[in-house]
Amino acid sequence: MNTAMPVRLDSRSADFAERLAKLLAYEPAQDESIERTVAAIVADVRTRGDEALLEYTRRFDRVDAASVHELELPHEALQRALDSLALADRDALQAAAARIRRYHERQLAQSWSYVEDDGTRLGQRIGPIDRVGLYVPGGKAAYPSSVLMNAMPARVAGVRELVMVVPTPDGVRNAMVLAAARVAGVDRVFTIGGAQAIAALAWGTDTVPAVDKIVGPGNAYVAEAKRRVFGTVGIDMIAGPSEILVLCDGSTDPDWIAMDLFSQAEHDEMAQAILLTPDAAFADRVGESIARLLPSMPRREIIARSLGERGALVVVRSMEEACEIATSIAAEHVEISARDPARWVERIRHAGAIFLGPWSSESIGDYCAGPNHVLPTMRTARFSSPLGVYDFQKRTSLIEVSRAGARTLGAIAATLARAEGLEAHARSAQLRVDADALPVQPQRPTQERPLPAGEVGAGRLDPIRPDIAAMSGYKVLDASGMIKLDAMENPYPMPLELRRALGERLAELPLNRYPAPAHDALAQAIRSRFGVPVDAGLVLGNGSDELITMLAVATARPGAVHLAPQPSFVMYELAARLAGSRFVGVPLRADFSLDVDAMLAAIAEHRPAVVWLAYPNNPTGNAFSSGAIEAVLAAAPGLVVLDEAYQPFAQDSWMARLCDQERLVVLRTVSKLGLAGLRLGYLAAAPRWTAQLQKVRAPYNVNVLTDAAARFALEHLDVFDAQAARIRADRERLSQHLRALSGVEVFPSRANFVLVRVADGERTERGLRSRGLLIKDVGRMHALLRNCLRLTVGTEEENRLLLEALRESL
Ligand code: PMP
Repeated sequence: MNTAMPVRLDSRSADFAERLAKLLAYEPAQDESIERTVAAIVADVRTRGDEALLEYTRRFDRVDAASVHELELPHEALQRALDSLALADRDALQAAAARIRRYHERQLAQSWSYVEDDGTRLGQRIGPIDRVGLYVPGGKAAYPSSVLMNAMPARVAGVRELVMVVPTPDGVRNAMVLAAARVAGVDRVFTIGGAQAIAALAWGTDTVPAVDKIVGPGNAYVAEAKRRVFGTVGIDMIAGPSEILVLCDGSTDPDWIAMDLFSQAEHDEMAQAILLTPDAAFADRVGESIARLLPSMPRREIIARSLGERGALVVVRSMEEACEIATSIAAEHVEISARDPARWVERIRHAGAIFLGPWSSESIGDYCAGPNHVLPTMRTARFSSPLGVYDFQKRTSLIEVSRAGARTLGAIAATLARAEGLEAHARSAQLRVDADALPVQPQRPTQERPLPAGEVGAGRLDPIRPDIAAMSGYKVLDASGMIKLDAMENPYPMPLELRRALGERLAELPLNRYPAPAHDALAQAIRSRFGVPVDAGLVLGNGSDELITMLAVATARPGAVHLAPQPSFVMYELAARLAGSRFVGVPLRADFSLDVDAMLAAIAEHRPAVVWLAYPNNPTGNAFSSGAIEAVLAAAPGLVVLDEAYQPFAQDSWMARLCDQERLVVLRTVSKLGLAGLRLGYLAAAPRWTAQLQKVRAPYNVNVLTDAAARFALEHLDVFDAQAARIRADRERLSQHLRALSGVEVFPSRANFVLVRVADGERTERGLRSRGLLIKDVGRMHALLRNCLRLTVGTEEENRLLLEALRESL
């Protein structure tokens, strides 16, 4: 083993600057033979496509396939890889992914615009890149953490398709890498690699789709190929060897510092690990730790060469000087292992990532702190940044000049164009000025224009929209003193001891403060308790009702259509209309199943922005077949919302399908579970949709009491699950007893209510009400529901009273 120690430098010595510069010097090898080989491969794949790709894969990876199609891994293979992992590995992968997502969600930039006084609107539209290729090295350099770090920001940005390539030399697949692809929500995976994979992604072949940008690390051939295709596609960066620079005031255990230096040195021989300390004795102690700990390291050969050839223990005059040197080095990773790291951080102007304090080991940042581990190396931190969501977003300028604006701007443009000798430019601008010869009213910004409202005489306006004036609102009946079986509530209250504990928890809340904006802890609890896929975005609402309204608002482009089978939950129509969209209802079949042909025809005709499917359906209680829903999903041009309000009673869900259905939105509520009073709903969908919905969410829509109470409830989910199980059993018993009544038709239910048809619905409803029972008469909602009543499953005693009253009211 090469036992060379890092060189010892002292900033006081005369030749320090020179010796440091020499140590830092690194020129990536320009190997002409690599350049020639890659040029030939890239050109070949560009012209011969799949055929060349197969040949190179056979030659370099020794993988023989009859077609490139065979080299694509189906989703099931990724899922199998994830399932095959030890539980601890799977949990670690998922926890890291969730943290990386959460961090990157904050980077999501939003479009913006503003209106000038003359009505000119200027802005920038920010949107995702369509398709991204992710290169993942094969063999021993295969890192699942790299898959997460490259894929998650792309997912958060809303990239439409993420195509991963990973070579599998001799057909050996890395389960952890494939599992990471699954967790990160990669759309397609091809087992190809090298320059040939980069060329295939850049230009596309018959099988591999052409992407718009390629990211991810690779060997010298891959780096050269990326350089070559740059321009045709975007690339992330050409990374150099890894670097760590530790600034330590001498207060940290020297073993920790030695191990932190090793953690970069073990990457490869060219990695660079440097310590800066004002404490010469401490530098000695770190040297001793290195000598003692190195023999126990599995990668000691690599570490020894890296430290011996490119490492250094540098004694500086002060921490101030250490910061100056750090700024000039502009290292990839900088650790400030000092008592008061905040004091030094502002002084270090250039670094890829800065780790503050002794607890922030760089390795935690590499895997799971949340920030990206793809960082600028080789001093490029002076002008570039960590990989982030912004690398997967692009910007488009938007210019909407008003008539009044054209007059002033046209004149300026014409003057400047003539000064540049560009006459067509000048005239094009001047035409707008001349057309505006008539005096115009200066336009106010759109938001300040008067409302288009009807005159009502005496100079007054009717400010209310006529369609709203004409409609009746969502009715909630007064139920005081009644047995309440009209609103699908869980009849069982939370157990007393839990309510007491909850009361104590709520007493601690700062009600004088607005809620925190992100509800991170609640969102995390919802994700883990209700199986929201890590790659899905999540929006919380004041009940799912509010989420329905938010969806309606966000999709209400002029002429937008919302479509739902009928009868279904009335809020879909109400929200769509309130937002100014058109609503199309497609009748269910007589047995309340989805009329797929009619749905598909209506979808083709109206091209709805949103299709609403309650699963199970309210008020019919049945769940539509998977085949029918899949047909709708395949045909819908916009979003398909699966409203799973009754999921606790159906015990079936589309949540897991979010991973492969981009247009699917899953809506849920905690209301039916036994928390209707909290008003909490949640919506999971691809982040490209949830990011937009967040914009129409009213600030603070989930209050601090709801947040805390819901978190408390989720800690005791077993109690609610047990109640739901009891309700499911009671539903079956109630249905059975109802079927025994003559003159009652009972429809099968997978919800917490039962729909029945009686001879005279209105009379029966009146009879029940006079006996103190509130149920829902849905008979006039839709022709299919003539004489139908919707009965919420109550407690055993309530159900008994219902049956008794029903017998007397038929
Ligand atoms: N979706 C469906 C299908 C419903 O039936 C209901 C309420 N009856 C809701 C959503 C609204 O639920 P929340 O109480 O969470 O607003």
